[in-house]
Amino acid sequence: MTRRVGLLGKPLRRRHSQVMHDAAFDAAGIDARYVLLELEPEEVAPAVAAARGDEWLGLGVTAPYKRVVAELVDEVEADAATIGAVNNVVRTTDRRLVGFNSDAPGFRVGVEAAMGRPLAGAAVVVAGAGGAAHAVVFACLDAGADRVLIGNRTPAAATALAERLGGIGVGTVAGVALDDPTFAAALRSADLAVNATTVGMIDPGATIAVELLPDAATVFDLVYVPAETPLLAAARARGLRAANGSEMLIAQAAIAFERWTGVAGMADVMRAAVAPLLADVSMVA
Ligand code: NAP
Repeated sequence: MTRRVGLLGKPLRRRHSQVMHDAAFDAAGIDARYVLLELEPEEVAPAVAAARGDEWLGLGVTAPYKRVVAELVDEVEADAATIGAVNNVVRTTDRRLVGFNSDAPGFRVGVEAAMGRPLAGAAVVVAGAGGAAHAVVFACLDAGADRVLIGNRTPAAATALAERLGGIGVGTVAGVALDDPTFAAALRSADLAVNATTVGMIDPGATIAVELLPDAATVFDLVYVPAETPLLAAARARGLRAANGSEMLIAQAAIAFERWTGVAGMADVMRAAVAPLLADVSMVA
């Protein structure tokens, strides 16, 4: 029997996850396929229920279903519950569905490689307060960041996120409007500035004024299509450490793959498989 992992979402425009997981199944000698399930909202509950069947290893979950799937599984792991988003589900041998979040640990792997140092003790500025920002802020606080300032176009979402995750770790967290002067002030002493918005992918421009950052700061853009956003181009032009979201994408996929199959260490296989898609300049959001 060919086993399956299904990606739930709508629309499903990208094949990056499918390419990475299918290459890893092949490399590990596992008879399984990663299938794209572009579903209407009313189709999600039946699809999740069906994933208890023997042919399923689990599910991937993307927008707009990361919250609703959390309500449909048998258990949500503590980190995913705190973050408020399930981006993967693993089916246990006793047919239980357990929701987890691999974006937060994937971000940590990607960003610590980009920084060349641990997140512990870092002063972090995050632009954005959507689903990805929830995982980013959680990962920073959980890893021992000293302070996190969230700036968002809609400030209420930033303050709500800060309230939700305040108390994790030893650091402080606050939320402001993206154009609040305290956001610019925080950039001047930041070790890390993260773009966790869709700006640079969907909308033009950049969320972070790189000219304000110290010389030793790192800029991390979660966007990976296009590979170089205006933010990353500006950061590199200034000589700052800068990385896009591709290593986070690969790391979170490898973490999920290990949960589904028990096979670790597939990041290199996944990186090689997805490289042509990441390099495809014709791919736009
Ligand atoms: P989301 O939940 O829809 O949140 C979008 C965020 O972008 C919100 O904070 C929104 O602010 C902000 N935003 C949108 N347009 C803006 C504009 N014109 N100016 C300023 N802010 C704007 O999306 P998400 O799931 O968090 O994803 C965010 C980005 O992260 C996407 O580009 C996604 O591809 C990327 N991502 C990458 C990875 C990876 O592995 N590399 C993983 C997850 C996500 P408002 O609250 O004001 O609307």
